[in-house]
Amino acid sequence: MPDLISDFFDNPTSSLVTVRCSPWTKGNRVALIGDAAHAIVPFFGQGMNAGFEDVRVLCGLIDQATTTDGHTDWATIWAQYEHLRQPDANAIADLALQNFIEMRDLVADPNFQLRKKIEQHLHARYGSRFQSLYSLVTFSHTRYSEALHIGKLQDQLFDQILGIEGIAQRYNSPDLDGIYDTAMEAYEKELLVSINA
Ligand SMILES: Cc1cc2nc3c(=O)[nH]c(=O)nc-3n(C[C@H](O)[C@H](O)[C@H](O)COP(=O)(O)OP(=O)(O)OC[C@H]3O[C@@H](n4cnc5c(N)ncnc54)[C@H](O)[C@@H]3O)c2cc1C
Repeated sequence: MPDLISDFFDNPTSSLVTVRCSPWTKGNRVALIGDAAHAIVPFFGQGMNAGFEDVRVLCGLIDQATTTDGHTDWATIWAQYEHLRQPDANAIADLALQNFIEMRDLVADPNFQLRKKIEQHLHARYGSRFQSLYSLVTFSHTRYSEALHIGKLQDQLFDQILGIEGIAQRYNSPDLDGIYDTAMEAYEKELLVSINA
């Protein structure tokens, strides 16, 4: 980077913004993808990934809507593209803003640190039945909109767990296994209800 100093001082810094817009398509000829449709603040590290997901979804829809004789039904493709991607783009925009607050205010908070330890404990105990919100967003194929919803259910789960007396000292004690099992069953029941709704 030979011109780092001049680059740094000559280029203005910009604000970080969230773009939420609609529609993303115009007629059957133009569609927005990536940041043009859904720029987000960078605190979940998912902006480019969300753009790649647009491309993956779009390619799948184009394959589905193209007949063997080469006719492509663009009207259907654009309608489905917006229908599928807008909820996920809005969700990752919310998650990225949420993660900013987490990084800014919560990482030094003892309750937050305890929650992280319990998340690890639950994952070790229940495996794929319990994945933290961060792990769902970053390391799984869960849609952003589903991850956002699951995150809200996990908040309820943790409100309950963090209310247990002496939890900081005994969060990984076998005494709590039964309580965790019951709480996990209730959490999974809620999850099933929302998936079926
Ligand atoms: C600080 C920061 C950290 C980030 N960290 C991550 C991360 O860890 N993980 C992640 O997945 N994402 C991250 N992102 C987000 C990621 O960089 C963007 O989501 C991604 O670059 C968007 O790609 P894009 O092609 O949609 O848009 P862009 O990369 O903005 O590309 C648009 C291009 O269009 C060009 N252009 C604009 N106007 C015109 C015009 N009129 N004619 C011709 N060309 C034009 C621009 O010059 C640009 O090259 C981060 C972003 C920031 C700001």
